[in-house]
Amino acid sequence: MPTASEPVPPGLQLDLIKKYSVPGPRYTSYPPATQFTEDLPPLGLEAAIAADNRPGGGPISLYFHLPFCETRCWFCGCNTVITLKRDSAGEYLDDLAREVKLTAARMDCARPVTQIHFGGGTPTFFPPDELRRLGALIRTHFRPASECEFSVEIDPRRLSRDHIAALAEIGANRASLGVQDTNPRVQLAIHRVQPHSDNLQAFAWLREAGFTSINVDLIYGLPLQTPATFDRTIDDVLALGPDRLSVFSYAHVPWIKPSQKIFDDRAQLPGPEEKLAMFAVAHRKLTAAGFTDIGLDHFARPDDSLAVAQRAGTLHRNFQGYSTAAGASLYGFGISSISSTPDTYRQNHKSVPEWRAALAAGTLPVERGLRLTPEDERRRTIIMRLMCDRRLDFAALSRTLGVDFGRTYAAECAGLDDLVADGIVVRTPAGIEVTPAGVPLLRIIAMRFDPHFLSAPRRHSQAI
Ligand code: SF4
Repeated sequence: MPTASEPVPPGLQLDLIKKYSVPGPRYTSYPPATQFTEDLPPLGLEAAIAADNRPGGGPISLYFHLPFCETRCWFCGCNTVITLKRDSAGEYLDDLAREVKLTAARMDCARPVTQIHFGGGTPTFFPPDELRRLGALIRTHFRPASECEFSVEIDPRRLSRDHIAALAEIGANRASLGVQDTNPRVQLAIHRVQPHSDNLQAFAWLREAGFTSINVDLIYGLPLQTPATFDRTIDDVLALGPDRLSVFSYAHVPWIKPSQKIFDDRAQLPGPEEKLAMFAVAHRKLTAAGFTDIGLDHFARPDDSLAVAQRAGTLHRNFQGYSTAAGASLYGFGISSISSTPDTYRQNHKSVPEWRAALAAGTLPVERGLRLTPEDERRRTIIMRLMCDRRLDFAALSRTLGVDFGRTYAAECAGLDDLVADGIVVRTPAGIEVTPAGVPLLRIIAMRFDPHFLSAPRRHSQAI
């Protein structure tokens, strides 16, 4: 735990985090993906896309899942395909082109695309010319807006200047670097050896190419990490000059991700007290360095668009975490990607052969999803505002939802008494507000408004 010489940051109360931190959804969607079903007919796949082509429909956000990695990091929770075969990228892109064509034919593609994200896996597994081919595919079917936020997840270990040049050519302007930890012993234990010189080189190339926002992903709770080693990692990363940081709590879910079983020798994994101390170190150093605590795991410079959106009340949450793409319909392409249009979530097949077979048959490669009820849609708004604004304004919500919020959700609001007593939320004349002590517990507060979770809690990762 932090010592007197390393004080806990104001507002961060570790005893409360310890008391309330139970496994729960991260609310990158509501209802969360754990509620999706494989009962597809009620989804009405074609009708869901047609319904999104509404007159005056909002902007579009595009997500491309590029799943390949050369080696597996033992902690990884992503849907990846481990291979050394570079040809896999070109073959996958051929199928991606089929999926884009099939979907775009059903969409109103005149709507502006305001956000594009390449996620993975490792998007830069794709050779530069395949990235250029993917960029051309996007521009053939869609209309990226001039201010489009185009972000790419980057693995600094296997990157060339030409990758960055290709990404810049196709319009990418934001990057997210997987770093996780800079300590060599930790890197060996997680099967991800990444000399810090790779991170420095990636930053230099990205800045040279004009990327305007660079995020760094870190993870705490990994084997052999201590508050002292993580303190050093934060220093190393701050010296890179990032615009945003995502500081994730390692989610140990070996029943879902078998590669994590290698950590089941718990002697290597830090305990809950040490994890909390690492979170405190990160919080203290990042806020002292001027970063805004956006919520959950996200920190951003005050002039970064995430922090600006939070101050303006326009912050949004989607499957990549916090986002500025409020009001956009999300169309996901590639294995396991999720699409979100006003009343429907649709997730693609998670395996390449099944996804490929659906496309070969000329069908949308959807495996599971959910049609939201009107009540789900109302709860989604409540949870989104809570997670993004850290408060619920009852009058504003009553107008947005078309119900008397205080009366309709009286039981949920009354059920916050323990959180109020512990200073996690406060009741105000306008509604409720999350205190600084409650920010690390945002999803715990949101769970109080989630009837799906309350009636059938499933196995989730720990909140911290
Ligand atoms: S952490 Fe990133 S590079 Fe490592 S296996 Fe997962 S997706 Fe691949």
